[in-house]
Amino acid sequence: AKRSGKNTYFFFDPRMEEKASSRMELAGSIRRGLKQNEFEVFYQPQIDFQNGRLTSTEALIRWRHPQLGWVPPSTFIPLAEETGLILDIGEWVLSQACSQNKKWQTMGLGNPRIAVNLSACQFQQEGLAQNISLLLHNLEMKSNTLEVELTESTFLENPDKGMKIIDEFRNMGVTVSIDDFGTGYSSLSYIKTITPGVLKIDQSFINEVINPTNRAIVQAIVTMAKSLNIETIAEGVETQEQFDILRDMGCDKYQGYYYSPPVPADGMTQIMMQDMKN
Ligand code: C2E
Ligand code: CA
Ligand code: CA
Ligand code: CA
Repeated sequence: AKRSGKNTYFFFDPRMEEKASSRMELAGSIRRGLKQNEFEVFYQPQIDFQNGRLTSTEALIRWRHPQLGWVPPSTFIPLAEETGLILDIGEWVLSQACSQNKKWQTMGLGNPRIAVNLSACQFQQEGLAQNISLLLHNLEMKSNTLEVELTESTFLENPDKGMKIIDEFRNMGVTVSIDDFGTGYSSLSYIKTITPGVLKIDQSFINEVINPTNRAIVQAIVTMAKSLNIETIAEGVETQEQFDILRDMGCDKYQGYYYSPPVPADGMTQIMMQDMKN
């Protein structure tokens, strides 16, 4: 065993080499997949608790791998982030999702907002807000129809730079949402500096919102957000029971299998057409 660090022993594992090469392979096939159009954006509705209407959709990437079939983002986003490939993926998702949203607007399907996940790497990139502004301009899309979803760790890594970009978004009229809210370890003080438009309450709380502790936490988040004029979305609502509890708490919106899983663009068009009739 080799000694590495203070009291940790590092055992050489022959499988590590194998892992490294399969990671290289995966990175290669992500690159190929991007070139060969193997990625697709799915969309999941976000619904207003009060009137049951669709307010927005979240864009979630999928990979249709020629051998493996549908590959979920959890298997390739982390590696894409390590290798920087997330910058290409992120740019592609943004333009894909915004063009699709523009199509829906042109079809007269209301004025839905589109929510796009941004990774920390994209946030570190110079000119992110300007690039997004240019994209919206080219699509003739109003910037108040775009939402960007960030996790706390994204701007806590570099708070000054983070604040600057968030200000740019705010000035453009783009809504900033805090994703997976409640799972970070930071104090809440950043909320008053950032004043996000939306807090997305993490699935782990919603999942067991029936449990009194979780319920108390979710209620506290909803109450705090309301007094700060921030919207709340419950993520991962799966059952009628969860739906009832969260609506009664005064949570603004929800997203989850209870209403619909993420679906391809065509499926989302159907959902929007149905929503227009309600
Ligand atoms: P997230 O942003 O927190 O997305 C929510 C995840 O919960 C999605 O998983 C969604 O399919 C899933 N979900 C929705 N409703 C329910 C439900 O009722 N129950 C359960 N159990 N799950 C539900 P998905 O699509 O596999 O995405 C996983 C993560 O991958 C996302 O978590 C996000 O962090 C990342 N991701 C996805 N697309 C992108 C992207 O375009 N860019 C970046 N940077 N990350 C992405
Ligand atoms: Ca998200
Ligand atoms: Ca989330
Ligand atoms: Ca997440």
